[in-house]
Amino acid sequence: MLNDRYSRQELLTDIGKEGQLILKNKTVAIVGIGALGTVSSELLTRAGIGNLILIDRDVIELSNLQRQNLFTENDLGKSKSNVAKIRLTQINSTLNLTSYSIHLNSKNISVLKNADLILDCTDNLSTRFLINDFCKKNNLPWIYAAAIKTSGQVMPILPGGPCLSCFVKETPTESCNTAGVLNSATSSISALQVSLALKILLGKETAPELYCYDLWKPEFRILSISKNKECLACNGRYNYLNNLTESKQIKFCSSGKYQIDGTPKDFIALKHKLEIIDKVELDEDLFKFQNILLFKDGRAIIKANSEEEALACYAKHIEN
Ligand SMILES: [Zn+2]
Repeated sequence: MLNDRYSRQELLTDIGKEGQLILKNKTVAIVGIGALGTVSSELLTRAGIGNLILIDRDVIELSNLQRQNLFTENDLGKSKSNVAKIRLTQINSTLNLTSYSIHLNSKNISVLKNADLILDCTDNLSTRFLINDFCKKNNLPWIYAAAIKTSGQVMPILPGGPCLSCFVKETPTESCNTAGVLNSATSSISALQVSLALKILLGKETAPELYCYDLWKPEFRILSISKNKECLACNGRYNYLNNLTESKQIKFCSSGKYQIDGTPKDFIALKHKLEIIDKVELDEDLFKFQNILLFKDGRAIIKANSEEEALACYAKHIEN
């Protein structure tokens, strides 16, 4: 039965039994297990990539179910990376899956160091620029992907070639929370990202091109990207990796939610303190109390109407 698993894929001349063995020995890290990450990680799992690293900072919400294929109503409130790991293991138990419920930053980015390839399935430019710096510095390939409204973009970013900073400047952009997104757009962008991933892992040639796909029109465009002489990352200036860009303790993370960076807390001691006030829920790596979600790495995600309200809530219940 095991030999049957990849038989349809091995029939493809570009893969074959030899290629399948190569895939089995590869490691891919997926940053962000949301609309793009659930689809990309499922396709890679079914395709037999031997080692997958799943990274996500958040928990599953009702508004995610429209497009985040791995999750069900029973998963609401649970960690995305952990639920994804469980579901993907059910799909293919022969793989080696690791999950991290963390907000990827310049201090913990070494979790990517053993990856042969990194997939950007995030929803924000700061994390993308951090991945860009890390990969530039360590000569690793990664694949940029983004989707919003009815369309999306994908680009393989290879060592020595043009990078994200060569053609994108960080600006406040609209997010899926405000603009909306079509589930067929996110699924298609992931499918394209995974096709490029397989080619890179198998050592096939890929060009530094930006693929732009609008599912509604529909329209597919390919743009050639070249290196920018002024690019900071290409000139060895890794501002995101050196933490020169991120100093704020609190940031807006999605509609009505704020993320606060803190030091790891003793969940049991905190439970004893807070259960006098209200119900506390504890699971493997999550601590839930009222509008506060606390993770093992010390981060809190707090539902609040403003930054001030979130900070006040954190100070009152978690810090004191
Ligand atoms: Zn560059």
